Amino acid sequence: MIDDLKTTDESYWRKKLTPVQYHILREKGTEPPFTGALLENHGKGVYTCAACGSELFSSDTKFESGTGWPSFFAAIAKDKIELHDDNSLLMNRVEAVCANCGSHLGHVFDDGPEPTGKRYCINSACLDFQIKKK
Ligand code: FE
Repeated sequence: MIDDLKTTDESYWRKKLTPVQYHILREKGTEPPFTGALLENHGKGVYTCAACGSELFSSDTKFESGTGWPSFFAAIAKDKIELHDDNSLLMNRVEAVCANCGSHLGHVFDDGPEPTGKRYCINSACLDFQIKKK
């Protein structure tokens, strides 16, 4: 994992990420629903930021939301994901941002399952998956 990336020049991300990843992570894009590689992933492990490698979600909190995007009811730790007000597209939403590198991940809604009631609706393109050993 690389630290202190919030001040990194965008040219670094243009080289490191694919054009699709760059658009979603760095320009707050959204992948089309039901297209993400990790949507149907049911393995045990940890989901990390595709930009910086920071650990973001445990597979234990992934659930089937039916929305077409990978969905989680909690972050792996509170300080891993920052929440920002997003009033774009004539909606009031809460944006989820990687706390380590400042990249856009998706949005958080209040219609998730217990125990948190939260739904972290995350673009698959923003995540990598690390399988838990044994
Ligand atoms: Fe990150």
